[in-house]
Amino acid sequence: MGDPEGSHYFIAGFCDMTEIPKAYEPARVEQKWYRFWMEHGYFTPKIDHKKKPFVIIMPPPNVTGELHLGHALTATLEDIMIRWHRMRGEPTLWLPGVDHAAIATQVVVEQKLAEQGLDRHKLGREKFIERVWEWVQKSRQSITYQHQRLGASCDWTRERFTLDEGPCLAVRTAFVRLYNKGLIYRGERIVNWCPRCQTALSDLEVQHKDITGNLYYLRYPMAEGDGYVTVATTRPETYLGDTAVAVNPGDKRFKAMVGKKVILPVIERVIPVIADSAVDPSFGTGAVKITPGHDPVDFEISERQHLQIVKILNPDATMNEQAGPYAGLERFACRQKVLADFEKAGLLEKIEQHHHSVGHCGRCQTMVEPEVSKQWFVKMAPLAEPAIKAVTGGRIAIVPERFTKVYLNWMENIRDWCISRQLWWGHRIPVWYCQKCNELTVAIDEPSTCSHCGSKDIVQDPDTLDTWFSSALWPHSTLGWPEDTEDFKYFYPTSVMETGYDILFFWVARMIMMGLEDTGDIPFHTVYLHGLIRDEKGEKMSKMKGNVLNPNDAIEDYGTDALRFAITTGTSPGNDINLGPHRLEAGRNFANKMWNAARFVLQSLETNPIESGALAKLTPKRSESIEDRWILSRLNRLIASVDELMSNFQFGEAERQIHDFFWGEFCDWYIEIAKIRLSRSDFSPLPVLAFVLETTLRLLHPFMPFITEELWQGLKQRLPEGSVGSDSIIIAPFPVDDKKATDPDAEQVMDSVIEIIRSIRNARAEHKVAASKWIEARVYADKFQTDIAAKSEAIETLAKARPLAVLDRSQRRAKEEKALVLVLKEAEVVLPWESMVDLAAERQRLEGEINAVEREIDRLEQRLKDKPFVARAPAAVVDKERSKLQTFKDKLLRLKQELGQIG
Ligand SMILES: [Zn+2]
Ligand SMILES: [Zn+2]
Repeated sequence: MGDPEGSHYFIAGFCDMTEIPKAYEPARVEQKWYRFWMEHGYFTPKIDHKKKPFVIIMPPPNVTGELHLGHALTATLEDIMIRWHRMRGEPTLWLPGVDHAAIATQVVVEQKLAEQGLDRHKLGREKFIERVWEWVQKSRQSITYQHQRLGASCDWTRERFTLDEGPCLAVRTAFVRLYNKGLIYRGERIVNWCPRCQTALSDLEVQHKDITGNLYYLRYPMAEGDGYVTVATTRPETYLGDTAVAVNPGDKRFKAMVGKKVILPVIERVIPVIADSAVDPSFGTGAVKITPGHDPVDFEISERQHLQIVKILNPDATMNEQAGPYAGLERFACRQKVLADFEKAGLLEKIEQHHHSVGHCGRCQTMVEPEVSKQWFVKMAPLAEPAIKAVTGGRIAIVPERFTKVYLNWMENIRDWCISRQLWWGHRIPVWYCQKCNELTVAIDEPSTCSHCGSKDIVQDPDTLDTWFSSALWPHSTLGWPEDTEDFKYFYPTSVMETGYDILFFWVARMIMMGLEDTGDIPFHTVYLHGLIRDEKGEKMSKMKGNVLNPNDAIEDYGTDALRFAITTGTSPGNDINLGPHRLEAGRNFANKMWNAARFVLQSLETNPIESGALAKLTPKRSESIEDRWILSRLNRLIASVDELMSNFQFGEAERQIHDFFWGEFCDWYIEIAKIRLSRSDFSPLPVLAFVLETTLRLLHPFMPFITEELWQGLKQRLPEGSVGSDSIIIAPFPVDDKKATDPDAEQVMDSVIEIIRSIRNARAEHKVAASKWIEARVYADKFQTDIAAKSEAIETLAKARPLAVLDRSQRRAKEEKALVLVLKEAEVVLPWESMVDLAAERQRLEGEINAVEREIDRLEQRLKDKPFVARAPAAVVDKERSKLQTFKDKLLRLKQELGQIG
């Protein structure tokens, strides 16, 4: 892991220490085990044709730099699935990779160059690409290192880069196949043009921002006679590209105008007034300017009406020669000049404020210009059809299910995809133009001659492909397609595609379409969409707000397992996660709790080794003590529940349940009771302690891989030979539930015992009984009396209650002496007041509290009688006051009862 010197880990680290460290130190443990797993080749699956593999292709992070929390979430969720399936004995492949991220990477490198006063044009294409490769090498190393720190158990021997030879061949092959089927075409269309990046963008790469701008009303004088037509526009400079004014054919106001001509001021171009049903008569004046070179709707009208197309911008958004006297001006400077000229001529009718949505480049935030441009497109409708069927027919499931509708809605309205980019960094388009016959040669391998006339004078298209084109092929290109490799045959289709819901269209939908198109089969069976990570208050993390949490820092401060726990536990698919220090602390606390509990078990095993075969013999049977039967039964229920939750992709809930079991039932109850048994020569709880610990570690391993391995290895060393069958927890079998272990009787008895202890503890806390003080207690029970009596010592010790008597309910006197009576599900607990409190002081305390509660009740009743308040206040506020009142009334009743008991 980034440290070539340290390849000699030693596995015996934990076990050789006579003293187990007091606290969990993630840094000491994590790297050691990651190396151990790597060196044993656990991440590389063995192809076994008798078994069905489990496969996840990792969404390749962009080679633009550091991983963020979104990547950490992706890696953690995928690692949970992978480790779980690996432990179930399935050949499990998690294939990692990185994306060249065409535009994103090019923008980053261009920014670096700008710092040195350079740009890509000064460097030239070849030198520029060299610079990008240098950047990519560094970036890839850091991404790999970060994935390894996160504990990602992916198969590094199969790592892929989108610009590797295999994926490149796949890209060219897919392009040529689509072209030959007529599904790729080159055409003049309106595209989104980023003047900074100087490339076309697909619709998905444009971010729409709502802004308050202006609507300018411009007058175009009639070519013949007096008068003018007024048109409204948000971009007045585009009048330079107008080739018509259009009105709706049904609009009576303009009936006489249609067929006449108007003059564009300053440049004096004469253009016709036409009628077209696409015109919305309610916008502006009802007459609209038509700028086919710079507006998608106008472009369509121009195709119908055979209008001329005039492009007025250079690639950098300065005005070109078509702008006449405005040529050379920057687009916004031109706007000001145009407005000034119209105003001078009395042709600027009015300016209105106008809210509208304006497209910006998703990479550099520059305002994009819609403009007509010759680009390569993919015809999407024929590709979408089978991809829709794959989902509606149930071959691909989307988790959570609600995104199915979102997917189908987008697919049913899909538009052609502009795939060419005027970028240097990316997959070059496999098209060559013949200088002699002007025909195209489209080929997988670089041709030396024109396929039409044989001329050697051919030039490759300078453009590259949209980065998502190679991403769309990722599940099959990484496995070797178009070659029919062993990997492709065995691992394709893959099992789960796990990614953020924000790239459902960019990526997931296109993978389904291209997978089906290229291979004839779906790329994966399940799409699992996770939510976004937000800050503690639910706000989006951003550098601007300064609320970004860096995964590396979190790992340094809390440990990897704590971070993994924090971003996944208690979460559900598709829902956003609010992450802050609290969750990370909870993760760290849980790791410490595990450490301490395990340390106790391990140390106990050192002093009292258990006999060989003790764990195997642990089948639940009547003769064992009731808490043994109980914890084994509860553990078994947990295993069954975890299995069901994991199968339904509810990993966060599974993790929460394991956490609650470990912390509550195991640590707070079972271990505490076991300590009493260990202190005496009772029959040993150690086999059960070791069994439950070992099983829970395996359940937790997919979620918290490092600490579980460390503790599991320590436990293994202290158990008799052969107690656990594998060399690492990573390949130990995932626990399977055993119906025979369910023991409802033991569960009921222990529920009662726990309830008794809890109720006495609560009573002590409420009446402020000193922790060291022993108090007297009598427990009256019915059917479980004998079983509860058998646990007297545990109740005594854990509730600090002595003398304690467990009696039959029939022996309960109708009127107890002065005592606090707690009525529970299966028992009644009687706590004589005088053993608990100083009666006079308690009486005074209760009277004081009764007074205070009565005053509150009075205040609330007055408030709720106040008609104007009840009428005016929101219903929720009134309800809250009413429920407060009820709570106080209940409390009053209880306090009065207690006062009565004291007498
Ligand atoms: Zn841009
Ligand atoms: Zn030719």
